[in-house]
Amino acid sequence: MNVTVFGTGFVGLVAGACMADFGLNVHCVDIDERKIAQLNQGIMPIYEQGLEELVSRNVSQKRLHFTSDLESAVRNSLVLFIAVGTEGRPDGRANLEHVRNVAQLIGRCMEEYKVVVMKSTVPVGTAAVVAEWVREAQSKPIEFDVVSNPEFLREGAAIEDFMRPNRVVLGADNARALAIVKDIYRPLYLIETPFVTTDNRTAELIKYATNSFLAIKISYINEVARLCDRVGADVHVIAKAVGMDGRIGRKFLHPGPGYGGSCLPKDTRAFLRTFEDYGVPNHLVAASVRINDEQIGEVLRKLTDALGGLEGRTIGLLGLTYKPNTNDVRESPSLAIARALLQAGAQVVGFDPIAHCEAGEAVQHPNFKIADSALASAAGADAVVVGTEWNEFRNLDLAELKRRMTGSVLLDARNIYDPETVAALGFCYIGVGRATEAERNSRKLGMAFAARA
Ligand code: NAD
Repeated sequence: MNVTVFGTGFVGLVAGACMADFGLNVHCVDIDERKIAQLNQGIMPIYEQGLEELVSRNVSQKRLHFTSDLESAVRNSLVLFIAVGTEGRPDGRANLEHVRNVAQLIGRCMEEYKVVVMKSTVPVGTAAVVAEWVREAQSKPIEFDVVSNPEFLREGAAIEDFMRPNRVVLGADNARALAIVKDIYRPLYLIETPFVTTDNRTAELIKYATNSFLAIKISYINEVARLCDRVGADVHVIAKAVGMDGRIGRKFLHPGPGYGGSCLPKDTRAFLRTFEDYGVPNHLVAASVRINDEQIGEVLRKLTDALGGLEGRTIGLLGLTYKPNTNDVRESPSLAIARALLQAGAQVVGFDPIAHCEAGEAVQHPNFKIADSALASAAGADAVVVGTEWNEFRNLDLAELKRRMTGSVLLDARNIYDPETVAALGFCYIGVGRATEAERNSRKLGMAFAARA
């Protein structure tokens, strides 16, 4: 079967390469001709473990093709996946401009029956709107169907997630279209992947309901961590014990500088707008967004308290991506910390194992420098902040890091270090809802006084 994927970003490229690996003949298309030229030279536009090998294997077996000839890509395939970006607009709603462009192109170019599959994250009701856009662009009526197939892959584990998903969600109101898309995912049947088949609207909402729930879990534990900081409790032990409850689960209960990336922030904001558009009050998602928005301020406040001000200070920043194992810096909490520090008059020296170029482009400021190693980012620093939990930071030579610093503050915004070990090296350790025992005991005393008063 011939399949076309519009958009060669994180989702489109991974989905295209994986579907080629399923044995399908896949055409990946993008309006970004530079990206297509790079892909045709074997250069990956994104960092994702295993992707280069997967792409190269399927290109050499002639199942995976990259082209900017959008019109032929419509004509050549029965199934057309839309995996273009749906960035948030200033009001928080998803921007469907790229989706509309593809839908209109499909309408203009199609000559026979097509199945249009919405993989981009889009608000409820979009499948119907896409159908209208396709129909309006047709010069004569030709049959087609729209299937909603939201994607749940995680950057950093994208191939594994696509090949072994927790579930595949398919929304359609037409059995024939559903059967065609199900056939594409046949290899997943063999590994007993659960399939949720439903209508388009429900499928569209499943994606936002999932991402918003994940955001709520993160904000919840971050709020609990604030209380732990105040009373001298350990949020890690709390998260572990809470997560052992089978009704809750351990994942996404990691305190830190808040959620970031290209999905959770934009999807929670867009979901809020959907509630608003349909006149349904929403409290939980709104609270999670508010807590998340405050989280960078929490980091800054702790650092300001520890250093007695930020003006003129030098801060080493470890990790610049929004999470490890990706080069994606979109809405990266670490870069939000960098921007806030620069705004407060500090100098920031960042280091990232992969995304130095992306970070340098995203934060263009004379006081923002990129170092070529984690240790180098600490040179002359008053404080070092762990912004992203790349594995290589876990085994860093902290004694050497400390020697290179001028000051001694280590703000572990990802809680990757053991507070006692770090303090024993002479650091002033600051975590998120976590501190050395001595520090926690001093807060316990303060709390006892507060309780008595
Ligand atoms: P991205 O920005 O990395 O890539 C989008 C690509 O689409 C770009 O290369 C762009 O040039 C291309 N494009 C734009 N208009 C086009 C057109 N008319 N024709 C062909 N190509 C076009 O985006 P992404 O991160 O892959 O996300 C895509 C969608 O998937 C979004 O809706 C996102 O919310 C959703 N999603 C993303 C993730 C993730 O982890 N990144 C996970 C699940 C779902």
